[in-house]
Amino acid sequence: MVKITKYLGQPLFTFKIILLLLITSVVGLANQKNVDFGKKNANLSDSLESIKICKWKDGAKTCVNFSFDDGLPSFRRISQVFDLYNFKASFFIIATTIQIDSIKDIYARGHEIASHSYSHPLFEVLDSSQIEYQIRKGKEVLENVLGVKCVTFGEPGNFRSQSCKAIAFKQHLFVRHYSEYDDINRIELDLQPKNLTLVIPTMLNGIAKGTIVEFVAHSINGEGFSPINETLLMQQLDLIRSYSNNGDIWVTTCKEGFCYENLYHEISLNKMVTGDTLKINFQNYNREKYADLDASNLSIEIPFSTATDLKCLTNFVGIKKLSDKFVLTTDLKRDTTLIIILNKPIFSYQGVQKNTKKDYLTEENRLLNYNIFNNDSLQDIFFISRKKIFANELYQN
Ligand SMILES: [Zn+2]
Repeated sequence: MVKITKYLGQPLFTFKIILLLLITSVVGLANQKNVDFGKKNANLSDSLESIKICKWKDGAKTCVNFSFDDGLPSFRRISQVFDLYNFKASFFIIATTIQIDSIKDIYARGHEIASHSYSHPLFEVLDSSQIEYQIRKGKEVLENVLGVKCVTFGEPGNFRSQSCKAIAFKQHLFVRHYSEYDDINRIELDLQPKNLTLVIPTMLNGIAKGTIVEFVAHSINGEGFSPINETLLMQQLDLIRSYSNNGDIWVTTCKEGFCYENLYHEISLNKMVTGDTLKINFQNYNREKYADLDASNLSIEIPFSTATDLKCLTNFVGIKKLSDKFVLTTDLKRDTTLIIILNKPIFSYQGVQKNTKKDYLTEENRLLNYNIFNNDSLQDIFFISRKKIFANELYQN
């Protein structure tokens, strides 16, 4: 201690020390800038790239629809069974045999009432004007009874006539078994008694392929065409619920599932980062097209590699934390912008570009708060070394 004090008094020694410190600082600063900017830009774009629209709502791997055809008396009971599981189903109604009290009650509990034509003729023997009449009239009757728009159509007999598909799409937003964007994006199972054991394998197939799974039945307990047994149906629903609880499948109405499918193809994300704030605009949302729906939900995923924690400043956004990512679900009818605060160092590096001591110190303090010095990524090493350079300023503050 005495010896150093003695040398410090000598001008040549002091000059050498200052020169050494200066060189170290300049070389260090140059290296840090290279590491910083190269790494930062790569990470930032990678992080933004990894934020994308989920294939299905809330990050589910598949979407499962149950639909029941022809509007039979047991529809009310079927809807109550689905209520027990908190699942929504679609009920396809023939206008001429409509049971008004029943469908009003089913609709009030959140299920979908869809059109199954006016009087259920065989569409393959009709000409296009007769098909047009059947589809238009069936829709009108349902809308008059419920006072809401009927957006989904299901062809009687499922003959898949191309003229029916074209006419139905002119009058309805959605047509069962068809996608506006990709017709093969469907797995279907006719839910007859002999097919009940195929429900779970079909659903697993849907999970593997990420497609919509459409189960189409008529009725239960001896009523209608090829009815299924209520107890056996519930056994399948029990199994499906376990997958639903895991978040792997989304059981919903045709209307919601098909709407999500459309939005997935139509919407693009515009992502802007300022500091640790991420603003996402959902572009191309067509308000006019979806005006007849109650909601147009869409989910995005933000992997943990991009944010270890986040806070969404936009209202009415559901946030779900899965094992490796956050999933944010919003209703585009309400808001097409999300403002998210991401607690992740990569997004805090923006200020560094200004390259002033003040910015460095601000960043330093912010990063200290994030406790990133506990790991040894390249950025952390960079900041630790920079901390040494501005140690004096830090301590003075
Ligand atoms: Zn039918």
